[in-house]
Amino acid sequence: MSWRELKTSWHDTDVANCDVCGNLIVRRYWSFIGGDGQEVRACREDDERLAQRLGIRTTEIEAARAAWQARAGEATDGTIT
Ligand SMILES: [Zn+2]
Repeated sequence: MSWRELKTSWHDTDVANCDVCGNLIVRRYWSFIGGDGQEVRACREDDERLAQRLGIRTTEIEAARAAWQARAGEATDGTIT
């Protein structure tokens, strides 16, 4: 599909991760439409082929991202579980 600029402000501490392989996304990402019609953000063009081969669906990506952010939140609130 196409490369897009990742728009984050300097004070934004959120990190963006590749929806396909989980790599950190810096400055720009490869944008394409996944199997269920939602935009997928990937770190490289090859991830589009990889995603198609794996049959990754954005709903699963969203669930994985939510779980990851929940874990990240636990890690930064100062408690050890
Ligand atoms: Zn990737």
